[in-house]
Amino acid sequence: ASPSDKAVQTTALSLSGVRHTFDTRLVVKGIDLDIAPGEVVCLLGPSGCGKTTLLRIAAGLEVLQEGSVSLEGRTIAAPGQRHVPPEKRSVGLAFQDSALFPHLNVLENVSFGLKHLPARARHEQALALLEQLGMADYAQNYPHQLSGGQQQRVALARALAPRPQLMLLDEPFSSLDARLRDRIRDDTLHVLKKLGSATLLVTHDPEEAMFMADRIALMRDGNIVQTGTPRELYCEPVDPFVVTFFGEVNILKGSIHKGCVQTPMGKIDASWLPEGSGVEVMIRPEALKLAVRDLPAKAHNHSHVIMAKLLGRSSLIHLCVHGEDGQEAHLHARVPGVFLPAEGQPVDIDLDRSQVFVFKSADAIT
Ligand code: ATP
Repeated sequence: ASPSDKAVQTTALSLSGVRHTFDTRLVVKGIDLDIAPGEVVCLLGPSGCGKTTLLRIAAGLEVLQEGSVSLEGRTIAAPGQRHVPPEKRSVGLAFQDSALFPHLNVLENVSFGLKHLPARARHEQALALLEQLGMADYAQNYPHQLSGGQQQRVALARALAPRPQLMLLDEPFSSLDARLRDRIRDDTLHVLKKLGSATLLVTHDPEEAMFMADRIALMRDGNIVQTGTPRELYCEPVDPFVVTFFGEVNILKGSIHKGCVQTPMGKIDASWLPEGSGVEVMIRPEALKLAVRDLPAKAHNHSHVIMAKLLGRSSLIHLCVHGEDGQEAHLHARVPGVFLPAEGQPVDIDLDRSQVFVFKSADAIT
């Protein structure tokens, strides 16, 4: 490639104006998404929002109906143009139910895409990946001798072995139990970053997306709602759906008065919203900082504990919160570690404003 070709090649994968209809139902509604070389992007969203369909379009497993798909600056699918078939797209694919070749052992499965290499290099490259994914001991086993989770790891190794410039992964950790999943995610991310493969990974699990992604594209009902780094989606959500997708949240209703909304924990600035508009104040449980007060139980006009539950790494506290103006609200607080105040214990509450979001009621979803 000439230097000018290199300058043009700023995206590993580019989806532009992609729309897709099944029968008469529009399930992908005009998606634009670019992935830079070496970047890991997670398509995150609830079941049925169109993630898998979009990934299958990128892979060429679903025929593109509208829009275009480019790989490394080259258009490989567009209406009226001959599509480049999946096997010619030089992408690595691993799906939830990726079938291994049943008549080949694990090492042969992983070596399959390395036929261009001399036997020794092929063997070493495949074995190195199996080691990284904790499957080297099973190199001589056949797929039917493996558990679902082990098969999934071999499928991942097989997809990664040819060191593709682009990896397309659909729920690749779903068959793994929780403890193993953490490790395999970690190992997979390490391999992806070492190989420098651009990756589009589909998941419905926000924690998985935050761990794996350089950027997350959060989808709802065939559209991308917000694209950004995990920090941007968590700390600068564009709408209530984005807030709630990352975990339970307290919601208080109110209205804007002099640029603020009154809550039992004090005034919250919302000066960008019109005076008088109805709003929802979304307060993450971890935004409520609690300090116990040495007062009689359920002291008059003081916030108090209704119930405290230990969840393991954190404690969940149900609170009755009293505001200065007589406002009362029932809220959930989440506190790190073991914090189990007695029922009725008066508490002082401090609010971490960075975990509080105000949206006009009309934006709220039910
Ligand atoms: P999940 O997380 O449950 O896999 P998803 O976000 O990946 O969901 P898709 O599998 O892309 O969602 O499906 C999007 C919508 O398109 C769903 O409503 C689904 O029922 C529908 N759909 C998917 N494949 C087909 C098909 N081959 N024929 C008809 N409808 C389909």
